Amino acid sequence: MLGAGLAGASVALELACRGVPVVLLERDPQAFSRASLHNEGKIHLGLIYANDASLATAKLQLSGALQFSSLLRGWLGPAAASLRPSRPFHYVVAEDSLLQPARLEAHYDAVQQLYDALRHRQPELDYLGTRPARLCVRVDPDSLRRYLAVDRLAAVFETAELAVDTAQLAALFRNAIRQHPRIDFRPGHRVESVTPSGVGHRIAGDGAAGPWHIDSRQVVNCLWEDRRRIDRGAGLEPGAGWVHRLKYRVIARLPEALREGPSVTMVLGPYGDVVVRDDGTAYFSWYPCALRGWSHELVPPAHWDAACRGELPSELAASLAHEVLTAIDAWYPGARLSEALIVDAGAIVGYGKTDVDDPASGLHDRSRVGVESNGDYHSLDPGKLTTEPLFGREAAERVLARL
Ligand SMILES: Cc1cc2nc3c(=O)[nH]c(=O)nc-3n(C[C@H](O)[C@H](O)[C@H](O)COP(=O)(O)OP(=O)(O)OC[C@H]3O[C@@H](n4cnc5c(N)ncnc54)[C@H](O)[C@@H]3O)c2cc1C
Repeated sequence: MLGAGLAGASVALELACRGVPVVLLERDPQAFSRASLHNEGKIHLGLIYANDASLATAKLQLSGALQFSSLLRGWLGPAAASLRPSRPFHYVVAEDSLLQPARLEAHYDAVQQLYDALRHRQPELDYLGTRPARLCVRVDPDSLRRYLAVDRLAAVFETAELAVDTAQLAALFRNAIRQHPRIDFRPGHRVESVTPSGVGHRIAGDGAAGPWHIDSRQVVNCLWEDRRRIDRGAGLEPGAGWVHRLKYRVIARLPEALREGPSVTMVLGPYGDVVVRDDGTAYFSWYPCALRGWSHELVPPAHWDAACRGELPSELAASLAHEVLTAIDAWYPGARLSEALIVDAGAIVGYGKTDVDDPASGLHDRSRVGVESNGDYHSLDPGKLTTEPLFGREAAERVLARL
């Protein structure tokens, strides 16, 4: 198993729980220190993907979201119940949104129908321990006047969508990986190549203790932004058109007056989110200031790496936090009084030539993801945090089918 983010950890735990020993290779000193930690933690119900008229992305996110908790319960046991969700999201529609409120409402209704049909077929499904009857309702913007500059909004929707605290998620998975007797976790192991060998595959790399190699019949590649490089070497040619984006986030302590405020996603376009957690902190991101890198290379530029490890010069962290919080303060007044605690970044892997302000951008469609196999070599593009447990189980099924 290559890579110990949520994708790799999901495959490893599913296999281990079904009796298969796993070697889990990771370049960093600990698991869950990259994109699976440095993200917003929203478990998407498909509402945000309103510009994918085929509904393929919404369907996928909904399936991932409704199986997220049950899969985690299987791997983490009762500890999974300790994962605290954020305050529910309101979707606020910007005046210059790519889609007008009526079009958004039609999408939300279509997602509701998908949800109703899924729940009818599988009543046992739950969304982070809840079973909301309605996913989204349009509400009077005045209901948020206490917290938001509502006069600048075209509409407001109250949703059932939630985020998880990714630091808490990381702690739970690190613990499960450490404790599972069938998982041999090897941090500090950077994978350089996977090539055919007598046994099946030779995985070779380097680390603090020097070069190493492991022969293994089956391999599952969960390396996220480094996945395509290894796939190509292993004979699985990546599909064309990918893009890597470097996006920053700010975790900050909220001023007292905002602690009971709503989580908010501004739609639809290059805007941002505020995710209010029950410990008085919040996630902030504002796309125009937080997006700082764009690359169509096979792997993202090396200079992104420090921010993706969470290592930023303090002046950059302070100026970024100031920019993001000030921009959000324009519509979530008081946000700039928050005290920045963490500033870090993650690479986002997707497909597209143009940015999200283009209605025709491939970035509005996140359905070109999942597990690809070439014999005993499997590669997992999870797309989003939301769908990782689902695809993790699928990758494990493919391994089991070939044992
Ligand atoms: C700012 C931001 C916000 C986001 N918000 C959301 C959201 O709200 N909801 C959502 O569903 N998704 C969100 N995402 C997307 C989500 O974070 C990713 O889809 C997901 O975390 C990818 O998980 P992963 O396990 O594939 O990658 P990672 O967590 O990055 O795991 C890959 C692992 O492989 C290791 N690795 C890489 N290369 C090598 C190598 N050569 N050798 C050994 N180890 C290696 C890495 O160190 C890492 O530990 C967001 C992403 C970002 C950046």
